[in-house]
Amino acid sequence: MSKIARSTAGAPKKTWRGTWVERDGMLWSPLLGSLGLVAGFTTRAQGSLAGSRHPLEEQARNRAALARSLGFDGVTRVKQVHGRDVVRRDAPAEPWPSADALWTDRKAVLLAVAAADCVPVLVADPEGPIGAAHAGWQGTTLRVAEALVEALVAGGAARERLVASLGPAIGPCCYAIDMERAAVVNERIGEACLRKVNDRVVMDLWAANTAQLRSVGVTRIEISGVCTLSGDADLWSYRGRGPDGVYGTQLGFIGRLA
Ligand SMILES: [Zn+2]
Repeated sequence: MSKIARSTAGAPKKTWRGTWVERDGMLWSPLLGSLGLVAGFTTRAQGSLAGSRHPLEEQARNRAALARSLGFDGVTRVKQVHGRDVVRRDAPAEPWPSADALWTDRKAVLLAVAAADCVPVLVADPEGPIGAAHAGWQGTTLRVAEALVEALVAGGAARERLVASLGPAIGPCCYAIDMERAAVVNERIGEACLRKVNDRVVMDLWAANTAQLRSVGVTRIEISGVCTLSGDADLWSYRGRGPDGVYGTQLGFIGRLA
């Protein structure tokens, strides 16, 4: 399936692809890194960091280790529900509010969203607030990336300064959806992110989120180009889970140390 999809699925221009780099067992955004931000995506090397398929205590330990290794006191998160709510979060304290995007204008706060095929959308005003959104097909069709941008602007970000990076996710090489879901996508956000591949429809989550970010004025957008299912990185993929149904969950993260 993926072979057919890979050969025929349309994709944004080559220059948009394969931008993220691997270092120290993690994947990093060169664009956000060049702006002084700590922004990337974990791999299996850091262990599972979220979700219900691994012991919660083990995942809490893994998150604490991740934060420490990046120079932060903890990981600040939300309870993700595949929606479009955005909350301000300035500290890692629990309980996490239900939302799919979070932002802060503080230093020393490491924001993170969990993903194992969904897109981690990282957005920053290099001189102001930063944020992250979790965008699977549902969040994407509910325009959570747009909601994050509007929250950042309301929180003091300059729209024209905003930069965004779309992290590892299931790519258009692999993300076939059924006709029923395709109809919902088309009804909510149109068909530009959909491609017909034989009897299947492929959704390009990166393209859909890029279009949304552009529609709210973000012009500097980097696409990781790393597919969680078929990419070479050592990642868990929900759709690539084994027969036992077990898979882990990575974190997409963004923070400003100083
Ligand atoms: Zn793929």
